Amino acid sequence: MLRRKTEWIKQTIDKQVLVESKLICNKCGLEEDSKEDDRHGIMNSNFHDIGVSFEYGSKFDGDDWDIHICESCLVEFVKTFKWMPDGFKQDWYNNGEKAFTQDDFDKWKLQK
Ligand SMILES: [Zn+2]
Repeated sequence: MLRRKTEWIKQTIDKQVLVESKLICNKCGLEEDSKEDDRHGIMNSNFHDIGVSFEYGSKFDGDDWDIHICESCLVEFVKTFKWMPDGFKQDWYNNGEKAFTQDDFDKWKLQK
């Protein structure tokens, strides 16, 4: 009986590790294994996290949302924006100068 319980605990732990290593896009459901790196922790360039904290006056007051979104869905969403987000295509190799203008952004939105 004790032996059986130990097996069940081991299976539960194995399952949790498997779930934690998957990244899932909240919008489209795309799943990808996360890539771990000793120096940087979990690395995955195709997935992004967006954190939103709602405050007083919001319908979601007190909520903290953690959105996982794949890059394809994020780009699709940003292409619906009227104004370019801060930091968009900022040139960090040129002292963070803004090389990309609102006009460039408007042209970029029309690209497929
Ligand atoms: Zn997606």
